[in-house]
Amino acid sequence: PIEPWFISGPVIKGFGRGSKVLGIPTANLPAENFADVVSEHTSGVYFGWAGLSTRGIYKMVMSIGWNPYFDNTEKTVEPWLLHNFDEDFYGEELRLAIVGYIRPEANFPSLESLIERIHVDGKIAEKALDLPIYARYKDSQYLRNPL
Ligand code: ADP
Ligand code: MG
Repeated sequence: PIEPWFISGPVIKGFGRGSKVLGIPTANLPAENFADVVSEHTSGVYFGWAGLSTRGIYKMVMSIGWNPYFDNTEKTVEPWLLHNFDEDFYGEELRLAIVGYIRPEANFPSLESLIERIHVDGKIAEKALDLPIYARYKDSQYLRNPL
């Protein structure tokens, strides 16, 4: 188990790669707003709860890191909300409770193996978040209240 941490911000535009290349949309947050807390945490895949101001609270699995497959030069924070939305939500306030860690960041030999692994991560997150030690954070005030 990890010490849970909490970050929030408006959903910003990334490279548009998540949906188009991977079939997995990731809501990008402006990492420069919490660069210190992001650099404190090892790159890798985490899970937790996501609160979207006007919509509700959802399970999420999130990558923090450099996206070695894409050779990024900036550390990014990219949660995939485990819910099917009918529309984009750019600009909305997204609040995250990050409660667990799945694996370190890794490079993958192919796009297919990367996509497959992200789906495994999603299933792990789905199950873990039903465990009482992680489920209880769904009720965090932080996820609901705008600052
Ligand atoms: P970008 O590179 O701009 O982040 P993506 O292809 O990663 O583009 O798509 C992310 C966007 O898709 C989010 O900003 C959000 O508006 C939308 N979106 C729709 N469904 C989801 C979801 N389940 N999880 C995360 N983002 C989603
Ligand atoms: Mg994205």
